[in-house]
Amino acid sequence: MVRELDSLDLVAGKRLSVVRTDDGLTAQPQVRELDGSWRRARPGDGVAEALLALLAAAPELSTVGSFTVRAWSAPVATGERAVAVDQTNESVIVGDAAVVKWAAHLAAGPHPAPRRLEILRANGFRFMPCPLGMVTWRPKNGAETLVVGVDSYLPGAVDGWTWAVDLIAAAAGTPDASDGEVAAAASAVGVVIAELHAALAVTVSTASSADAERWRATASATLEEARALGDPTVADLLEQRRDLIDELLSGIGAMAGTPVIEGHGDLHVGQVLHHRGGYAVIDFDGNPVLPVTERALPIPAVLDVAGLAQSLSHAAIVARRHHRVDEAALLRVERTAREHFTQSYATHLAELGHDELYDPAYLRGFRLQQVLREIVYAAHHLPRWMYVPEAALPMLLDEGAAGER
Ligand code: ADP
Ligand code: MG
Repeated sequence: MVRELDSLDLVAGKRLSVVRTDDGLTAQPQVRELDGSWRRARPGDGVAEALLALLAAAPELSTVGSFTVRAWSAPVATGERAVAVDQTNESVIVGDAAVVKWAAHLAAGPHPAPRRLEILRANGFRFMPCPLGMVTWRPKNGAETLVVGVDSYLPGAVDGWTWAVDLIAAAAGTPDASDGEVAAAASAVGVVIAELHAALAVTVSTASSADAERWRATASATLEEARALGDPTVADLLEQRRDLIDELLSGIGAMAGTPVIEGHGDLHVGQVLHHRGGYAVIDFDGNPVLPVTERALPIPAVLDVAGLAQSLSHAAIVARRHHRVDEAALLRVERTAREHFTQSYATHLAELGHDELYDPAYLRGFRLQQVLREIVYAAHHLPRWMYVPEAALPMLLDEGAAGER
């Protein structure tokens, strides 16, 4: 069943609606048919164009009923096409000028993006698409949540799962190839994430013991779910390496007193686009695997770093499946990528005067948690991804044996 809850008129015959479906609340671009009925718009129907035109004419902040419109510097542009990659939300590119992202699932607020983007804009963070505007909606007795976000379009942007897999495959698949390009890319991304955290450092606070206890409980619940949902070989490995796993995850529960920031929260290589001007971070919607009430909460910086570092391992595993690579070379490149990323991050963060935000002691624990989360996620939603965390788990647990931290 589909029920219309609220709508914001953009121009005659085009509107943004908040709709309740069996799946929950969603933001829907809609067009009016000749018979007066409304239907969901597709790219090409001009609803994203109409939103841009509305933003271009709107003051910086305005409210219409339960909607709040923030308009920063939206251009007028025409020509709509869909984003071609796998996505959770529905993004439409307008005239190679803007990306309009309609929220597929409205989170019970507070939504992390409005505040994160506001702070990043205020602090001059350059490594993201320019936020052009956004529309939020406040349900009766509820908190503000994002319904649509508009960013500048980055020409030639390549998705992180593409550039990282290609770079790693090239380095591990060509005899005598050097890891130089992988190291350079990983280091550049390290700089970007250090800049991101430095820009968000104004939000710093201290983790309470309740925070640490929540993280511990979440990590151990994820461990149990992964044990139950993964392949029997996963359960066996979790049993055999129980001591190390307990040590890594219990560290997470001992983080009371650690500095926390309003970080990215869902950082992985797929959130880092490569475009003509370098690397850019996207998608400040928070972690979809967390309950909505937890998505905007502060996190230790090392959680973001672990998410990105672990995704580089996962990119290496994807590269191995789809390209002809030498196993030893692959492991070497994987380690090069991760270490250059974390070292460059730590060095640059210190140069920016914020090394107090990052404690690498928790890096491996949060990486392990990420692997376990992906086992659970794959079991529920994406079985074809399962080979990735299943291969990542023994790699991560064996790292110590090779003398790594
Ligand atoms: P989702 O929440 O649906 O994953 P993202 O914000 O992560 O949405 O974007 C999904 C994809 O859209 C990205 O991987 C990228 O390919 C493309 N994309 C997003 N923002 C931009 C942008 N500003 N410029 C160019 N491409 C973009
Ligand atoms: Mg994304």
